[in-house]
Amino acid sequence: MEFGEFADAAAEIEQLSADTEITERVTSLLGSATDDLPVLARFVQGRVFPAWSSETLDIGPNYCYEAVARAAGTNVSAGDVEARLADVGDIGEVAASYEFGGQRGLAAFGSGGDDSALSVAGVADELAALADAEGSGSRDKKIDILFGLFNRASPREARYLARLVLSEMRIGVGEGTVRDAVASAFDVPVESVERALQVSNDYGEVARVAREEGEAGLDAMDLELGRPVQAMLAQAGTVSDALDEWGEAAVETKYDGARVQVHHDPEGLGWAGEATADAATDGDAREVAVFSRNMEDVTDALPEVVEFVEAHLDVPAILDGEVVATDDDGDPLPFQEVLRRFRRKHDVARAREAVELDLFAFDCLHAGGEDLLGAPVAQRHERLDAVLASGVADLRITDDADEIADIEADALDAGHEGIMLKDPESTYSPGRRGKNWLKRKPAVETLDLVVTGAEWGEGRRAKFLGTFLLSARVGDAGDEFETLGKVATGITDEELADLTELLEPHIRAQDGQEVDIRPEVVFEVGYEEIQESPTYSSGYALRFPRFLGVRDDKDPEDADSLERVERLAEKQ
Ligand code: AMP
Repeated sequence: MEFGEFADAAAEIEQLSADTEITERVTSLLGSATDDLPVLARFVQGRVFPAWSSETLDIGPNYCYEAVARAAGTNVSAGDVEARLADVGDIGEVAASYEFGGQRGLAAFGSGGDDSALSVAGVADELAALADAEGSGSRDKKIDILFGLFNRASPREARYLARLVLSEMRIGVGEGTVRDAVASAFDVPVESVERALQVSNDYGEVARVAREEGEAGLDAMDLELGRPVQAMLAQAGTVSDALDEWGEAAVETKYDGARVQVHHDPEGLGWAGEATADAATDGDAREVAVFSRNMEDVTDALPEVVEFVEAHLDVPAILDGEVVATDDDGDPLPFQEVLRRFRRKHDVARAREAVELDLFAFDCLHAGGEDLLGAPVAQRHERLDAVLASGVADLRITDDADEIADIEADALDAGHEGIMLKDPESTYSPGRRGKNWLKRKPAVETLDLVVTGAEWGEGRRAKFLGTFLLSARVGDAGDEFETLGKVATGITDEELADLTELLEPHIRAQDGQEVDIRPEVVFEVGYEEIQESPTYSSGYALRFPRFLGVRDDKDPEDADSLERVERLAEKQ
């Protein structure tokens, strides 16, 4: 396809506002593609390289200004281009405002001397060459190539070329549009396109396979060792959200580090992809590749992760996990320390001496030749345990909120960030910030509440008070209280003994296991939510209250008031 035809389509799409019309126009664009279909599927989204690729053009806006200025003629400078941009705010419009081509016969560099029409495939090749230019002289080479392209461009072509190279396409075509357009252009189910995109992360390849091999071809696309997939993401949520929705939850420590996706193949990672075809022919022999959350290749910056994986993993696998920085005692360090390591390009060995990283793997997307994206959490975790002997996050599946509170307390004690709750039945959905993974939202503010009652424990705990009735203060005198919950979670056996000793002298009355306690003692309590509820006299109830400590320093008249509880409830 000529680049002019692509530019015409882009101009039309830019004028449309209804999603369905945009999808229709993209559908017809993709439908009329030839061998350039993969490129078109990317260009229309403003992408030059596949989504999985870390490759970039590696140019600043100045390169573009300079190339445009040169193509526009001897009396135009990069400063003039920049000044116009400051006026109109769109590099596309600026590029389209010049008359190019005057330099044709004069061009001494790059493809500036070529005055044939630009094609989509030709532009892609030139941009690939531009990306490849490295080292000394690369700036001039990149600008020459850009100049050559602009010099052959009509104003409309220049408009979209400039936007493409600066990643500012802005014609309203997102990933969903291309997904739907591929499905309708080649008459394949949207679900098959979606799944193929998840495993390959490559709109160009998916479009090609959809056209040439149809639904069966898409369904046969698999994860490739060495080609990153988008990470599954989490939403904030509460234990009650999780248990109400799923019945039980898979609970893990939430590590405070940086996300990594580890690819391993003892035979050497075969995949080298289109953009690195040279590496493929040379034979990419590395066994381990590590990608960051945004799929950047960070293998060289994290040698200890590579060594760890080489030492502990024997089968081909793709693992998802977190790397955490630790100090000499093995305690976690703030995650900024980890990020510093990720960015490190030189002197990696020295950086490693200062901050050592540990991998905690929490998911397994592929093991021993089998893709696991469609398997439930528990099964993926089992495979993870089976292939990796150490460095695996503990996973506990439970329907017990108290147990979850204990796991969280342990995680916090160990210096971690908190817990993650995962729907045990859920599959791995790359790139999704869905409701299947919840990062537990910690209670933001605690409450200091008066103990006004309790219950004796049972069995082994029969001689201790076990459950404590909590009340908020009404008025300032400290003699009127309304109940709003009971706390039994977060208390060790030792603490129960101490609390019993502390409260027993204040018992006012007793009825079976239940005791009425004079308001004397104040507990600091955490919780997930304050709900309106008829269960307690205040009209509110705490969800998942957790004992944090005794406020020895507070008397009942200093406890939190019902007014504050109401305010907090409103704020949620
Ligand atoms: P946030 O960055 O606050 O959106 O929280 C989600 C992030 O927590 C993920 O992207 C991971 O990097 C990180 N994380 C730490 N531990 C886990 C875990 N056990 N499961 C999933 N994500 C985790």
